[in-house]
Amino acid sequence: MIWTNWARSASAHPVRQVHPATQEELSDAVRQAVRDGHTVRAVGASHSFSPAAATDGVLLDLDRLTALHRVERDPATGNALVTVGAGIRLHQLNRLLAERGLAMQNLGDIDRQSIAGAVSTGTHGTGARFGGLASRVRALTVVGPDGAVTRCSPTENPDLFEASRLGLGATGVLSTVTIEAVPAFDLRAEEDVQPIDRVLAELDDLVDSADHFEFFWFPTARRVQTLTNTRVEARPDHGGPARGVRRAVSAVRTFVDAEVLSNGGLELVNRTATAFPAVTPRLNAFASGALRPRTYTAPSYQVLCNPRRVRFRETEYAVPRESVVDVLREIDGWLRRTRENVPFPLEIRFAPAEDLWLSTAHGRETAYVAVQQYWRLPYARYFDAAEEIFTAVGGRPHWGKMHTRDAAYLAEQYPRFADFQRVRKEADPDGVFANAYTHRVFG
Ligand SMILES: Cc1cc2nc3c(=O)[nH]c(=O)nc-3n(C[C@H](O)[C@H](O)[C@H](O)COP(=O)(O)OP(=O)(O)OC[C@H]3O[C@@H](n4cnc5c(N)ncnc54)[C@H](O)[C@@H]3O)c2cc1C
Repeated sequence: MIWTNWARSASAHPVRQVHPATQEELSDAVRQAVRDGHTVRAVGASHSFSPAAATDGVLLDLDRLTALHRVERDPATGNALVTVGAGIRLHQLNRLLAERGLAMQNLGDIDRQSIAGAVSTGTHGTGARFGGLASRVRALTVVGPDGAVTRCSPTENPDLFEASRLGLGATGVLSTVTIEAVPAFDLRAEEDVQPIDRVLAELDDLVDSADHFEFFWFPTARRVQTLTNTRVEARPDHGGPARGVRRAVSAVRTFVDAEVLSNGGLELVNRTATAFPAVTPRLNAFASGALRPRTYTAPSYQVLCNPRRVRFRETEYAVPRESVVDVLREIDGWLRRTRENVPFPLEIRFAPAEDLWLSTAHGRETAYVAVQQYWRLPYARYFDAAEEIFTAVGGRPHWGKMHTRDAAYLAEQYPRFADFQRVRKEADPDGVFANAYTHRVFG
């Protein structure tokens, strides 16, 4: 059998794929794999661009472990602690939370991933005060190489907790994840088109004065699309079962902007650029101005997550926030000099410093620069050039996106790297949960 990821940038031949439906079946599947002398990788929605989930051993697909187990109140914060099966997809989780008047504190661009896959790779959204999904994990259950189930949290097996809440599944298979949710909220979304020079000149203000700020920059274009989202109280008719919540935005506009311009239109732009590279700069200039400015209010998860139907490849680095303007100017300079055919936008996001051992935002305020390329076009030269620019400022690659870094480089970027390696060795001394990617990035 062949496994491939969403971006078709990784594939593998697992000896078998197992879909456990219970904790016992999951433990049995791990034990059986070890008895047969195979390695084991868990897989979520296969949405990582890196070969993080690839295995020639046993592939454990947790698509049947999606139940809601518990909702409790955290005495410390008053927030809800929600325990779910690790395979639940984010769109299922968002809906389930909305039905209970709850929400994720922050989310990335899409909701197709599993919660386990998203936290294990450090999936993040944007917002100078709102960290990645793994920063909201409060407890986990982890299945070890002997099939034993260990509960961990900041007070129970704290080292295993630290290494497992963002650890590429290298310490074991997550079977449940406990997330701290927040009361449901709406976002007032302002989408605008602004000159790049103004955005770069006023970047700190734009980022710090907003709850969630990001921008998309089509290569060499002089205007960028800015997205500024402000947290507001949930409207009563936005709560409850998630149907009808798009009422806040005209259905026609949503279709035109999200589907025709961002998905269908983007596909058309990219197909044209693939066939006629000479027109790419003009297409990019057109695409960067095509979205009309608009403001609307809708439930947080509907504003933050959108369909991405155009297939692409991506590398993304976390860079110290203070270096992002220089980094962007260098990438822009490279694109202008080389006239590389890139009809896909850069995406720039922001995050606070985090304390998770392997968070790409560990210990520093961070800007994320995502470099994307249409899947039918060559990417290697562009991604290599961007990586050189990122690594010159101590950039850290997203664990779930394409990059060429190895353990030697990463050990220098993460002050707690040795702690992670120690816990991994204790949890999985024989490398049952390893694959070629974990060998490269963790040694
Ligand atoms: C279109 C698109 C948009 C994206 N947008 C964003 C974004 O906005 N922000 C961002 O940060 N990232 C983004 N990503 C990247 C994506 O969020 C991550 O790669 C994420 O890991 C994918 O989740 P998944 O469920 O598909 O995990 P997979 O790719 O299936 O697995 C990822 C890793 O998690 C491990 N894993 C999965 N399940 C378990 C488990 N139960 N126990 C232990 N380990 C497990 C796997 O072994 C693997 O190492 C995007 C990707 C795509 C394709």
